[in-house]
Amino acid sequence: MVNQVNSGDLEINSSLLTVINDLHSQYKSLSEGAVANYIPELAKVNPDLFSICIVSVDGQDYKVGDWEQFFTIQSISKVFAYGLALEDHGRNYILTRVGVEPTGDAFNAIILDEQSKRPYNPMVNAGAIATTSLIKGSAPTERLNRMLEMFRRYIGRDVFVDISVFTSERSTGHRNRAMAHLMLNFGMIDQNIEQALDLYFQQCAVLVNCRDLAVMAATLANRGINPITKERAIDKRYIKDILSVMYTCGMYNFAGEWAYKIGIPAKSGICGGIIAVVPNKMGIGVFSPPLDARGNSVRGVKVCEELSQRLSLHLFDCSSENGKLGTEE
Ligand code: GLU
Repeated sequence: MVNQVNSGDLEINSSLLTVINDLHSQYKSLSEGAVANYIPELAKVNPDLFSICIVSVDGQDYKVGDWEQFFTIQSISKVFAYGLALEDHGRNYILTRVGVEPTGDAFNAIILDEQSKRPYNPMVNAGAIATTSLIKGSAPTERLNRMLEMFRRYIGRDVFVDISVFTSERSTGHRNRAMAHLMLNFGMIDQNIEQALDLYFQQCAVLVNCRDLAVMAATLANRGINPITKERAIDKRYIKDILSVMYTCGMYNFAGEWAYKIGIPAKSGICGGIIAVVPNKMGIGVFSPPLDARGNSVRGVKVCEELSQRLSLHLFDCSSENGKLGTEE
């Protein structure tokens, strides 16, 4: 069983590796989708890059393809920034500033909840900008350092911001700037909005590889403890808040269908990355830059759909013993 994956279980280890190798070969020729180009620097990515990684909660890793290739984390950062804001202020206060309702709208919709004036949830851009504006620190450098230190705990090594992607987005991110102004107008952001936007653009430009994504997802699956370094990355009391919003809002306006078909908390980014969390079992990372019309990696969605079926990962699947390999019907 996958929930018993451990270093001694060679048969399962090789099964997981076989599954991801199979999926990599099966989908590497899939050429649908287009890379994001509204941030000019992102348009330069090689669309053929493709990697799949799984890290189990006992620290085993399985990887195939271009897993060492670095790219900017983009929207996947929203999950982790939300966790930091929860730790800084607690659940009740954060709920007064950012809702937890799925929108069904695009990630960059310029829209707030009519009544409360809160952004709908922390996984869409407006909600993520509001969340990031709440990160504590006496000055921009301190806030950035706290953010980078948080990523270091999840990933297990020092992280860096890609300055070209950061400046590319800062000079073209007028839509995000418009959202920040709207929230400033309604008193949902107190901070200097240019500083809040800078930190948001910086967090989106943090460089990761596909294995990092799987380790970060595995840390959430492992109640907040990085399964490789054994360091705690986040207070465990906030894991359920993070996974709940990932489950309902993490996959742009495909979140409902994702929950229905794939059934595990996940978050994607316009970099072409996806993280998926199987609580108490494993973290999954997939990277493939071409996106579908909703902004999700085309290959990434296919891979996760098949992984969910082949490993029976859907959280509400009771038709087979959950977590067993080879139970596909
Ligand atoms: N930095 C991107 C933006 O704010 C992130 C979008 C995404 O990955 O969904 O537009």
